[in-house]
Amino acid sequence: MKGDCAQHAVPENSAALYSTMALHLPTLLYACIAVLAMSAGVMTLFGATQRSYRGFWWWAAAQWLLTLGLLLQTQRDQYPSVLPLSNLLLLQWPIVVLGGMRRFYSRGGPQLHAMTDWMLLALAYLLWLATWASHGDVAARVAAFAAGALMLDIYGATMLTRIADFKTSSALKALAATELLAACVQAVRLVRAGFANDPAIGGSNDVLLAGGLVVVVSALVMVYLALLLNYERTERNLRAMHRKLRFLADMDVLTRVPNRRHFHELAAQALATSQPGTSTVMMFDIDHFKRINDLLGHANGDEALRQVAHCVRDALREQDVAGRLGGDEFAVLLPETSVNDAMAAASRIVSRLGDRQIAPRSAPVSLSFGVVLMKADETIAEALNRADQALYEAKRQGRSRAVVAIGAEDKPVFGESRQLGLTGF
Ligand code: GH3
Ligand code: MG
Repeated sequence: MKGDCAQHAVPENSAALYSTMALHLPTLLYACIAVLAMSAGVMTLFGATQRSYRGFWWWAAAQWLLTLGLLLQTQRDQYPSVLPLSNLLLLQWPIVVLGGMRRFYSRGGPQLHAMTDWMLLALAYLLWLATWASHGDVAARVAAFAAGALMLDIYGATMLTRIADFKTSSALKALAATELLAACVQAVRLVRAGFANDPAIGGSNDVLLAGGLVVVVSALVMVYLALLLNYERTERNLRAMHRKLRFLADMDVLTRVPNRRHFHELAAQALATSQPGTSTVMMFDIDHFKRINDLLGHANGDEALRQVAHCVRDALREQDVAGRLGGDEFAVLLPETSVNDAMAAASRIVSRLGDRQIAPRSAPVSLSFGVVLMKADETIAEALNRADQALYEAKRQGRSRAVVAIGAEDKPVFGESRQLGLTGF
């Protein structure tokens, strides 16, 4: 796609003369340089003013180097010695772009060792350099350049397909497609200059025009891709950050169950879809938790809280809602569940807790529960107040038990009181 743009004599037959007049190659070359410089400038401006990720500056550098390469091409008739540098700058593009990809996708990028990229670039360049240094004819030089560029374009496109995101990214596909397009142009140059041994045809206007267009298209696709990948990465990071903040705002970090506020939210949602007056609320807390902290240390106290939360999650159904209200106090909403089934759930939590040991040689912790059947017009906060009264009663009756409250909050009446088996601290 890129390069050796004018290594040929201008064809002198009438058709070529007509196309030469129509195209005016220096103008075409300067137009390409202008577009490339603008694309590189846009990327540089973006990179300097916006958040960019690893690899971005490689892509910007590839654009600038390509621009410089084309600029030097315009000077080669006056200064032939610029040709080696110019052609190197034209050849580098797929490899430097790939280098950027390797950095941008440091995880999920192409697996092949990056050394291969540079070795292939060196090979392509040395192939042309050797032909140039041996004063090979123009056809041979065009063919050598085209062969090297063809190889690099195909290699670059193939490597892009190995990026994990390739299948889902239309921008990566577009870049690979433009590199393949560039490879096609170089293939035509190679066939015409190499096999037909006709440098004039190898560098004829139609091929040069196609080459120029492909360079411009590649550069524009690269700008689009670089900005899009940056934007997508930023958005992905923001979404992950938002999820993290949401988790921190909603969940109790120690026990990984919903905190008080989120428990109320979830419970309200669950109640909205349940038959009124059919759900049960339980409130429970660890017996003599202060002693656990004092005797086993705060770290073991934390572990006890984690174990309790684990057993609660383990013993409940998917539709049940549990949360840590604070300290050693937890709450559970069991939608459309009778008091009897709620007592069974309390027993399940306690029996799972009995199977676990909080710390070596320590007795399992015991829990006390207050249980209420929600009234049809009751809010979760009101039900929790009544459950708290039942919990207090359970403590009063000697702990490690579940007590049911019936009646109103201002006239509490306690019903069934079930011993739960564990003897705690
Ligand atoms: P009771 O049987 O009457 O419930 O007695 P208790 O000792 O458990 O009393 P209470 O429930 O009032 O004690 C709660 C204790 O929980 C007080 C506080 O030191 C401790 N605590 C609160 N939050 C944490 C925590 O995150 N980690 C640890 N390790 N301890 C906590
Ligand atoms: Mg307690």
